[in-house]
Amino acid sequence: MAQTQPDYYAVLGVARDAPDSEITQAWRRLVLVSHPDKQQAAGKSASPEPSNDIVLINEARAVLSDPAKRAAFDAQYEAPRPPPAAGPRIREHVSLEVFTPHPVDEPEKYTHPCRCGHEYVVTIDDLEAGVDVLGCPGCGEYIVVEYEEVEE
Ligand SMILES: [Zn+2]
Repeated sequence: MAQTQPDYYAVLGVARDAPDSEITQAWRRLVLVSHPDKQQAAGKSASPEPSNDIVLINEARAVLSDPAKRAAFDAQYEAPRPPPAAGPRIREHVSLEVFTPHPVDEPEKYTHPCRCGHEYVVTIDDLEAGVDVLGCPGCGEYIVVEYEEVEE
């Protein structure tokens, strides 16, 4: 969704937590400086129609001085983007049964080739500790190793 709405706080030049009085004050000041009479007096070309500026300034004040509208604007304008999915990106689930056991290693470990050429490694200690997400040291992908609790 495109962000087309102007930032009313920036329009008025106030902080996002500015109190109502400050918003009204800022609005009044801006209305005065952008008033056609003032612009004429300052030697600027004045138009009988309100400029976009004053429309925007009035709009900003109307929204920010209304608690409900301001809250809605805050929520809309500052809506945080959805956070990236927590945790590692899991490529697939692999049963421990298809891992290659290395029973002579100490600690005993199981390996499974990754498509990148490196391999996933899980030791018997990891399994006993409940580790089931393995990262590939080569490409940074993750798999979940599926296994059942080993009964001694
Ligand atoms: Zn890999």
